[in-house]
Amino acid sequence: MSKILVVEDEKNILELVRFNLERAGFEVIATPDGARGLEMAREELPDLIILDVMLPGMNGFEVCRELQHDSATRFIPVIFLSARAGELDRVLGLEMGADDYIVKPFSPRELVARVKARLRRSVQVDNRAEEKFAGKIMEIGQLVIDEEKHAVYSNGVKQDLTQKEFELLCYLARRRGKVFTREQLLERVWGYDNPVDSRTVDVHIRHIRQKLAPEPGVFELIETVRGVGYRFKEDI
Ligand code: CA
Repeated sequence: MSKILVVEDEKNILELVRFNLERAGFEVIATPDGARGLEMAREELPDLIILDVMLPGMNGFEVCRELQHDSATRFIPVIFLSARAGELDRVLGLEMGADDYIVKPFSPRELVARVKARLRRSVQVDNRAEEKFAGKIMEIGQLVIDEEKHAVYSNGVKQDLTQKEFELLCYLARRRGKVFTREQLLERVWGYDNPVDSRTVDVHIRHIRQKLAPEPGVFELIETVRGVGYRFKEDI
């Protein structure tokens, strides 16, 4: 189930958006506050953010800029909501790295359609990451992953990974730099709809690290992003 973060200070609009997204099957988390929205984005890594422009304190553009600067959140698609239909807003919004823009008043049906379209694009990008490396040999520093042969070499030495360890390593390695929560990994690598025990991920990550870098402190390919989850190191 995709998780949508809604940051909107007008209570009736927030409830309208929440109601329609939940009815469309999305999980919704929400806040009226920009700074809190930024925190929630970092903590929960939603699949998409609906961001009001005019917010008290930290406005939507500022929130978006902070999201872009943070490697954990810069991949999250943003749809701006604005009361102003001006071109300036439109240009600003798109330059800020927002993916889409909806002007109030909007129809709930249009909003839901735009959210679905944007999420479909995310899935396509994700699938392309999958296709790009499918059946290929990934060489990352001292690590070589041969997907076809289902083999992993660290410093030229073949390592024995279990099926799930291998799948988890491949999933993260294909998406270097992108942070995933434990729940996302359980959903996408294990295929669990309702992840119950996220420690499963921690255990597998620990085993992968031990197998790939038996000497502690040599290098850590899979980084822990505190309070969020894991990512495969971007620069090696
Ligand atoms: Ca507002």
